[in-house]
Amino acid sequence: MTQVIAIDDSQKPALAPLIMPNRLLLGPGPSNAHPDVLQAMSKPPVGHLDPAFLTLMDEIQALLRYTWQTENQLTIAVSGTGTAAMEATIANAVEPGDVVLVGVAGYFGNRLVDMAGRYGGDVRVITKPWGQVFRLEELREAMETHRPAILALVHAETSTGARQPLEGVGDLCREFDCLLLVDTVTSLGGVPIFLDRWGIDLAYSCSQKGLGCSPGASPFTMSDRAMKKLQQRSAKVANWYLDMLLLGKYWGSDRVYHHTAPIELYYGLREALRLIAAEGLDNCWQRHQQNVEYLWDRLEEIGLKLHVDREFRLPTLTTVCIPDGADGKAIARQLLLEHNIEVGGGLGELAGKVWRVGLMGFNSRPESVDRLIAALQKVLP
Ligand code: PLP
Repeated sequence: MTQVIAIDDSQKPALAPLIMPNRLLLGPGPSNAHPDVLQAMSKPPVGHLDPAFLTLMDEIQALLRYTWQTENQLTIAVSGTGTAAMEATIANAVEPGDVVLVGVAGYFGNRLVDMAGRYGGDVRVITKPWGQVFRLEELREAMETHRPAILALVHAETSTGARQPLEGVGDLCREFDCLLLVDTVTSLGGVPIFLDRWGIDLAYSCSQKGLGCSPGASPFTMSDRAMKKLQQRSAKVANWYLDMLLLGKYWGSDRVYHHTAPIELYYGLREALRLIAAEGLDNCWQRHQQNVEYLWDRLEEIGLKLHVDREFRLPTLTTVCIPDGADGKAIARQLLLEHNIEVGGGLGELAGKVWRVGLMGFNSRPESVDRLIAALQKVLP
């Protein structure tokens, strides 16, 4: 006899359809996706091996190569956030015992250290105070001391707002027969970067910042030099999902099932990258620079100080010193709840000392600056 079990409906949550506040996201990310990107994400779904989807994947690859200024064959989006793409670079590049030299001048440098150690790297660390950057001579000295297989740097350190100059670092790495791995999560689309010209071998990013998309489809690229190291590994990559020898087959000629791609996110990424190409990379970088300079001027006009020296400030993320005696958390909360504007708090060493203001992708507009300054004038003591 079939036993009938009654469903207990007394615990069923009775909820209204979803309503969410309409925020202006001026924190360290996510930023608001471009309206055309949101529209693209509501297009009808297709299967992840549909010829139309495979064409879209090819388009994403071509657009990413343009946005990074690279000809790397293996240039794809990882299904996951920036951290997944970060783990992909480490998992594929680091073999147990490899000396990995990491430049740490903020929170995300430390994340690289942690990850490289988990994949068996012999991790060596050089540090700078948070908000400063490494000079080429300092990197050379460290390379001479440690002779690493991989040098890992964060181009745009989101925890501090500092831009690590990369010109010359690739040549240095070639001199020492070392791969150069760079975090471009807060730089891609908003900060000038020339992957091939600067000799960067591995890079990763995210979709929700300078590209103006939603989070979840994260750019990844590796050079032929990095691919050669991967092909010569003595053991398999320890992470199945992020193994580029497998993922490369899905994105490359084989087109065989690897995982079910988040279809609509890829629609969004394709549209976000198309918008950047239509604007022109140079114009897009200039727009970020002009709007951030407007932000810096307006912040200083209302008496606020900035944490990073002008020369090394990011166009995408600005760290603003919380004035003495002000309650930074309470002010950020007021901006959010009374003005629908999100700004970030400080992370790690800078917690309680700075606010982090992002002007990225679609949000890099003078109107964003005007709205923030008007709101700050109301909430600052
Ligand atoms: N690296 C940097 C420099 C970041 O700013 C972030 C996120 O803000 C990440 C890595 C991780 O990206 P995600 O939060 O998308 O996983």
